[in-house]
Amino acid sequence: MLQTVPTQPKRLQDYRGIVDDALLDEIDELARRLRGARVVHINATAFGGGVAEILQSLVPLMQDVGLDAQWQVIHGENEFFQVTKACHNGLQGMALDFTPEMQAIWERYNRENASRFEGAYDFVVVHDPQPAGLRRFAEGRGGRRWIWRCHIDTSRPHPPFQAFFLPYVEEYDAVIFTLQDFVFPGIREPHIRIIPPTIDPLVPKNQPMAPDRARETVARFGPDPDRPLLLQVARFDPWKDPLGVIDAYRAVKREVPTVQLALVGVMAHDDPEGWFYLDRVLRYAGEDMDIHVLHNFHGVGPVEVAAFQTMATVVVQKSTREGFGLAVTEALWKGKPVVGGRVGGIPLQVRDGETGFLVETVEEAAERILYLLRHPVEAQRMGKAGREHVRRHFLMPRLLRDYLKLFAELAV
Ligand code: UDP
Repeated sequence: MLQTVPTQPKRLQDYRGIVDDALLDEIDELARRLRGARVVHINATAFGGGVAEILQSLVPLMQDVGLDAQWQVIHGENEFFQVTKACHNGLQGMALDFTPEMQAIWERYNRENASRFEGAYDFVVVHDPQPAGLRRFAEGRGGRRWIWRCHIDTSRPHPPFQAFFLPYVEEYDAVIFTLQDFVFPGIREPHIRIIPPTIDPLVPKNQPMAPDRARETVARFGPDPDRPLLLQVARFDPWKDPLGVIDAYRAVKREVPTVQLALVGVMAHDDPEGWFYLDRVLRYAGEDMDIHVLHNFHGVGPVEVAAFQTMATVVVQKSTREGFGLAVTEALWKGKPVVGGRVGGIPLQVRDGETGFLVETVEEAAERILYLLRHPVEAQRMGKAGREHVRRHFLMPRLLRDYLKLFAELAV
């Protein structure tokens, strides 16, 4: 049997007053038609990463509205995860080797997990490339409808990875991508659905925080809560362009000397590139004590991230390549205007001039940040518009609705 992941119960009714009643009604209506439907979500890991975070909320909500939903994870050893890491990067366009040995390892683990897949489901939702072979190797056994949910950008896969994965993902009854721009080339149109992710407003990271507590928390890590604070929450990764953020901050500081910058990121033990890049960022920041480079090893967890987002004057997400950009969603939800790169899912969230500004260069970023610092009333108005935009489009009940809608369509 595949391992089942336990989740804490959640109630859809707790979202009443946060999202629109019409959305909750729509969910009720769809759920009535799907009552008792057996659903299993399958992914590679129970902890860490956006997928696990989403399933932690989505699965109990599906249960709450009357579906018989569960979450299972596949089994893999180090050799498998080495290969799936290469698949992840290769599918996102990196020119990596994909040797017959690597392909054989991927297939062996998928075959083995398929043989452990038990039970009978109306809908099997397979997340990301790691377990994408389950449908093939289970020969459709155990699932009436199979859905592949891809969370990464597969628009320009490196050819060997594209050739290998396409036949697997083509077998699914429907394939979900985050953005139209991310669709895997070669998949036939009727199967494609576009569903952006959402955040859960009821987890500690996204709940309102008392200003005093936020101030105290941020001050503990160094920044002065009485001076303007720019914030970027992102892994230390070249695509997130922290060096560009530092350049923009420096340009702003020439005009507003009291400004401070916090770069907050997560470090994984097993990510040597992340540590290497963190060193680069620290060297680039140099002796400027108003630049605060912080990560989880300093004790910055989800609640501390929330405190920084609550205290920031302007949030920056100057990525040059991005998935959806959940850090943007979280910042907008806290009522902060965001200056973001015009890439990936950022333009869906940052409406230029309404909920923040879209930028392409350091100069533009600096100019927009400066504008927001000098126009606090407008900055506040944009933050408010950003929160409303997220409330309407990017909170968990909307994702639940989109899945139920897809299930209802596939059921006929
Ligand atoms: N995050 C965090 N602590 C940090 C930095 C980031 O919890 O120190 C979270 C952040 O709040 C967001 C996620 O990591 O939920 C990053 O997701 P995003 O889509 O922005 O970027 P990704 O890392 O997936 O490219």
